[in-house]
Amino acid sequence: MAAMLATFRGGARRLLAPSPASSRQAAARRGLASPARELPSEVDAVIIGGGSLGASCAYHLQQKGLRTVLLEAHQLTAGTTWHTAGMLWRLRPSDTDVELQSYTRDMCIKLEEETGVNSWTENGGLFIACNKERLDEYKRLSTMGHYFGVDSRMLSPEETKELYPILNVDDIYGSMYSPTDGTIDPAGVVGAYQRAAQKLGSRFVEHCPVEGIETESYSVHGQPRRKVTGVLRTVNSSRQASS
Ligand SMILES: Cc1cc2nc3c(=O)[nH]c(=O)nc-3n(C[C@H](O)[C@H](O)[C@H](O)COP(=O)(O)OP(=O)(O)OC[C@H]3O[C@@H](n4cnc5c(N)ncnc54)[C@H](O)[C@@H]3O)c2cc1C
Repeated sequence: MAAMLATFRGGARRLLAPSPASSRQAAARRGLASPARELPSEVDAVIIGGGSLGASCAYHLQQKGLRTVLLEAHQLTAGTTWHTAGMLWRLRPSDTDVELQSYTRDMCIKLEEETGVNSWTENGGLFIACNKERLDEYKRLSTMGHYFGVDSRMLSPEETKELYPILNVDDIYGSMYSPTDGTIDPAGVVGAYQRAAQKLGSRFVEHCPVEGIETESYSVHGQPRRKVTGVLRTVNSSRQASS
């Protein structure tokens, strides 16, 4: 996970180098803040990285009542998120995975209702078993899915062919079909999170690489602790800290 959280206090506004006019204009067109002008001097959480996880963190933390700012070194989705196939299937061996994937699917649908930005295509999932052990595993996952409310059914090779005619089913044992799984458009979901988070008051800033995190030591009942007091970025080729 590339998104990092840090609290952020002090005079960050004065530490930020002006970004080029062209990138400021492009950012403004996409509803994004420009680093030079829009950074708050103090927030409850700084999210470093504008991929799918960072955008989700900004939305969820802001929704919990925290004041957030998301800082992206390049452009939103510039990292791994840009490359992803975005396939989402919920029948996984771990209960936690099933619940997380279900939550993600529901969020995509909810975000579209909230923002009008589409990211979810419900094209279904087909899991092919090329041996008996894999077929048994799918049967187990399908049974577990019923408990979690994930619709699925086992198909014979003939039924699989009927559903997906271009598949050669001569050497398969069967398949599991989950009609309500699908695909997420990565740019769409980040855009939807961005719009929903900004509606709640979060700020998203592009072209703003974070170069370090400033901390302060303190103690609780004699136990040493550290808290984050600022983030660092380069200004005019020198490394400076927020105060
Ligand atoms: C080819 C491929 C296929 C995939 N297919 C699937 C799939 O089908 N289903 C699935 O669920 N997952 C898939 N994944 C995985 C999925 O893409 C990643 O898990 C997900 O995109 C990670 O998101 P992220 O926000 O953690 O990271 P990233 O998208 O990498 O975001 C990190 C961001 O942080 C920024 N950043 C880094 N350092 C700084 C800094 N110092 N200051 C400011 N910003 C910074 C970067 O510019 C970047 O934008 C696939 C991945 C790949 C590569």
